[in-house]
Amino acid sequence: MASQNTALNMFIRGQWTPSSNCEQTTAVMNPSTGQIIGRTPVGSPQDVDDAVHAASEALPTWAETPVVERARVMFAYRQLMEKEFDALARLLTREHGKTHAEARAEVQRGLEMVEFACSVPALIGGQTFPQIARGVDGETNRHPVGVCVGITPYNFPNMVPLWMFPIAITCGNTFILKPSEKVPLSAIRLVELLAEAGLPDGVMNLVHGGKEVVDALLTHDDVAAVSFVGSTKIAKYVYEVGSSHGKRVQAAGGAKNHLIIMPDADLDQSVKALAASAFGCAGQRCMAGSVAVAVGRVGDSLIEGLVDHAGSINVDVTDGNDAAEMGPVISREHRDRVASYLDIAKTSGASVVLDGRSVEAGDSFLLGPSVVDQVTIDMPLWKEEVFGPLLSVVRADSLEHAIAVGKACPYGNGASIFTQSGHAAREFKRHFNAGMIGVNVGVPAPMAWLPFTGWNQSFFGDLHIQGTEGVHFYTRQKMTLTRWFESKDESHVDPVWNSV
Ligand code: NAD
Repeated sequence: MASQNTALNMFIRGQWTPSSNCEQTTAVMNPSTGQIIGRTPVGSPQDVDDAVHAASEALPTWAETPVVERARVMFAYRQLMEKEFDALARLLTREHGKTHAEARAEVQRGLEMVEFACSVPALIGGQTFPQIARGVDGETNRHPVGVCVGITPYNFPNMVPLWMFPIAITCGNTFILKPSEKVPLSAIRLVELLAEAGLPDGVMNLVHGGKEVVDALLTHDDVAAVSFVGSTKIAKYVYEVGSSHGKRVQAAGGAKNHLIIMPDADLDQSVKALAASAFGCAGQRCMAGSVAVAVGRVGDSLIEGLVDHAGSINVDVTDGNDAAEMGPVISREHRDRVASYLDIAKTSGASVVLDGRSVEAGDSFLLGPSVVDQVTIDMPLWKEEVFGPLLSVVRADSLEHAIAVGKACPYGNGASIFTQSGHAAREFKRHFNAGMIGVNVGVPAPMAWLPFTGWNQSFFGDLHIQGTEGVHFYTRQKMTLTRWFESKDESHVDPVWNSV
């Protein structure tokens, strides 16, 4: 377990070992107390080289291990995670600050990724094309890609690593995880449990660090594939550097998710869903609704409902306090950055109708929910990802207007409509400029079996994370054409078969 003075260890070849650069560290904070609870080493390219060698050495044997045996490790892993469920959730709350209920929901989503990985034996098969030409049979099958890397963000310390390594490993690859330096503790616990589940040494490795370590992973000759989740700026960078060094890359970036409320929507249900989407996890979800688009006459009553509802949320520290309904953001700097948008909003002509700065924070990084009305698409508040508990409200005249607002948005992760009209929902689903759509659903985040299909600046690459696309990302296809000539020599024919 982490001590607040000792740098956290890496995991290489089945051993927890110190980084070659653990003099320099990043503090891991408890957002509820403002206290340091661990130190992440800055790491070095030498650490990366060591981890890549370990993963390369383990690869041939693991890739040749039958897929059902690889999946069996995931079945055991699932059991261990289930046993540790509550402890995993509490650790997550401690290093991230989300509420206990949110932490449990995150662990549940992560666990479902492991359940999905258990089904890889049924998904990894290829296709057969008997007699595709005269006397010729065709077939495809899937092979592991090699050493895979996962680079993860701070906002889902447990679930996002689980988006990656269970599928990658069960497909026969070896893996190196580089968790966010802000929240490494959940990732470390997940790796400890994986070793306990019986995974051979070297198949799973973990390194720590920031840019220098990421660069070493992206440019290492023996890395085959990189999965990244984080902000758009870094996602684009990872995609460009990784792919120019010959790696297969999937890089999920930031977001600005729109929630459209039609005049015929069920107002009470919509307000509840909007508040949960905008303020759940203190707004630090890539699928958080950050812009409500109020269509027509619904605007004023929506604002009234939102202010009432958001104002009644129990905002409190979360570590050891299961009654909190909304917790702190990740750091003091981040809280100040999110709060600064309230001043920017005022100077750009929007109207702050609920100001989250009134919440008493003490030493924690608490910031209450904020609602800003009369936001327009030329304002920084609409253009930039805020990633905190702040909901902007844009007024629109019609569904077409709301769809046009979405079209102007450079991101394209998720969007939802609240309506009772099947026609409006259908128009929205077909034409809104985002890859994940909800109909009367506040957070249309797909579960393990579905792909996480961000568009535009919210995703760089081709094959998305999760679902069968995940299996395809972590495997490469081989096609075989086979032709057998009729033998002149019949001596090979088994007499038993011949007589049947
Ligand atoms: P981030 O981009 O700052 O960090 C993500 C990872 O990149 C971390 O592991 C970090 O160490 C590394 N990194 C940071 N700076 C780097 C640099 N200059 N060069 C190389 N690597 C670097 O993101 P974050 O603040 O940890 O997470 C929040 C962001 O992630 C938000 O933008 C959110 O929308 C996004 N996110 C997206 C999804 C999605 O599926 N699209 C899911 C979760 C989070």
